[in-house]
Amino acid sequence: AKMEGRGTWRFFEPAMDASLQRRRALELDLREAMVKDEFSLFYQPLYDLNLDRICGFEALLRWQHPKRGFVPPDQFIPIAEEIGLIVQLGEWVLNRACEQAVTWPSEMKLAVNVSAAQFRDPGLIDIISSALTASRLSPRRLELEITESVFLANSTETIATLHRLKAQGLRIALDDFGTGYSSLSYLRSFPFDKLKIDKSFVRDATATHGAKSIVKAVISLGRSLGMTTIAEGVETVEQLDHMRAEGCNEAQGFLFSPPVPVTEIAAKILELRNG
Ligand code: C2E
Ligand code: CA
Ligand code: CA
Ligand code: CA
Repeated sequence: AKMEGRGTWRFFEPAMDASLQRRRALELDLREAMVKDEFSLFYQPLYDLNLDRICGFEALLRWQHPKRGFVPPDQFIPIAEEIGLIVQLGEWVLNRACEQAVTWPSEMKLAVNVSAAQFRDPGLIDIISSALTASRLSPRRLELEITESVFLANSTETIATLHRLKAQGLRIALDDFGTGYSSLSYLRSFPFDKLKIDKSFVRDATATHGAKSIVKAVISLGRSLGMTTIAEGVETVEQLDHMRAEGCNEAQGFLFSPPVPVTEIAAKILELRNG
């Protein structure tokens, strides 16, 4: 415990130290995980609601630590961002995902998550074009998923980066739409191709009137701005029917499939080829 101003003792310090130590240890392990080859990619099917068949996969990073076991991305990605490891890790993800996707049937697209810190890295454009060149994956098959946190940075630069990326022929999706700093003016000034409706709205759209209205509005807004829409986190037939009835273009979620290892991709494509 340490003395704080006017003789007040703070007894929660040791607990803070413990969590800080855990965090430091996680940081060290994370730095080593790359060289030790502890990362892998899982893939979750994207489903085209108009064609009624699978149309691609989203790559999702997995970390299997020898002692900690499986560490969820929501836990380690924020740390990787803070310690600056995300740029290198993100490059690995892009290279690996493109290499794997080029072996799929050509109508299957690949969605890759790009974090705000990666987006700010001036090397991003080159990293993406090398991943495409090295793998020979057509840029038309690549979709980058970014979140609204990229808007926190300089918007002139952000818009320029988006245009340069799109000039390579790939598409940009706005992930977790509705949860962040959403302002309708962003949608007008940023060249997105796709809006990804956050799973919290998808979950509530069949239950609460508010979420239902938001989903309806997002889909119609997307349509009038020439953007496609995808519903994430679809878990029930009711949610699927609702999204389809509202005119959403694509869906993704446990109802179709959880994220799977690369060895199960061929089977998923067969399984979700029709209806
Ligand atoms: P996200 O991009 O929003 O990815 C969707 C998350 O929802 C994934 O969690 C996925 O497994 C989960 N999910 C899919 N279907 C359902 C469903 O029907 N219900 C529910 N409740 N969840 C579903 P995951 O794989 O744990 O990833 C969490 C987050 O970590 C991702 O959210 C993304 O922000 C980040 N992430 C994952 N891989 C990468 C990566 O390669 N790079 C970066 N920068 N971020 C990544
Ligand atoms: Ca995503
Ligand atoms: Ca999402
Ligand atoms: Ca998310």
